[in-house]
Amino acid sequence: MTIAYLYHPDCLQHDMGVGHPECADRLTAIHEKIKDVHNYEAPLATHEQLGRVHTAHYIDKILTHTEGTIYLDPDSLLTPQTPQAALRAAGALVSATDLVLSDQYHAAFCNIRPPGHHALADHAMGFCFFNNIAVGVAHAIAQYGLQRVAIVDFDVHHGNGTESIFKNETRVMLCSSFQHPFYPGVGADTCSDHIINIPLSAGTTGAQFRHAITTDCLPALHQFAPQIIYISAGFDGHENDDISMMRLHADDYAWITQEIVSIAQQYAQGRIISTLEGGYHLESLAESVAAHLQVLTKADN
Ligand SMILES: [Zn+2]
Repeated sequence: MTIAYLYHPDCLQHDMGVGHPECADRLTAIHEKIKDVHNYEAPLATHEQLGRVHTAHYIDKILTHTEGTIYLDPDSLLTPQTPQAALRAAGALVSATDLVLSDQYHAAFCNIRPPGHHALADHAMGFCFFNNIAVGVAHAIAQYGLQRVAIVDFDVHHGNGTESIFKNETRVMLCSSFQHPFYPGVGADTCSDHIINIPLSAGTTGAQFRHAITTDCLPALHQFAPQIIYISAGFDGHENDDISMMRLHADDYAWITQEIVSIAQQYAQGRIISTLEGGYHLESLAESVAAHLQVLTKADN
């Protein structure tokens, strides 16, 4: 089996400034390590596809930006190249959804930036402009009529944008594990049976991470019986990643991927769509993504 791999060089053009961790080299480090996948160019998301999760006013504000640079929040620099990169990133999720739900592939991975899981319906946040995974999930619901879509977010930061967008959407289950207390400072007190938040202390080891996922995330996914599983795949909880204080390794990312594969095979015909969120130590990022993709590629539906 092989998987679909979505990428576009436009995603390299968005530049957050010299020395910024959310840089184009992240995608390149991954891209150079990819093998045994079918390559697709990420298309541009349409206004309609974005409009399922973002306000028209916000979409227009991003797309009409052609000159100069503006900080939309302290961590999100909008440049003239950002709109095109952000449209490719969101479009990758739409295309991956079509490729998997039309049964051409059991799984897809989107090697894209800017990342998305902090982006709110009407605001950029934390390096994120459009909420790529939310755009993909909304497409699966609107275009294919899915009733139960799960999102597993194992980025080291809480998927607050995704939670905010789907907090009243019971067709979507979000399981987000994250270092806490930590940026963006929310999520630990959410009370909902379709939003499963798993706060983890600084210094959490792979064994502790696996225990928490096994106890809090996997049973909820079994109960939900998803028709497809999306993954906000952030690798910034790696021990070598300076952005966080978690102590995960590539084998921990392979482990959670295998657990997600098992659930997808049981309920969802093996359907998984994974997209890059964080991960800033280039070598550990590429190694972790390779471990993640190796599990997805060998999985059969
Ligand atoms: Zn992150």
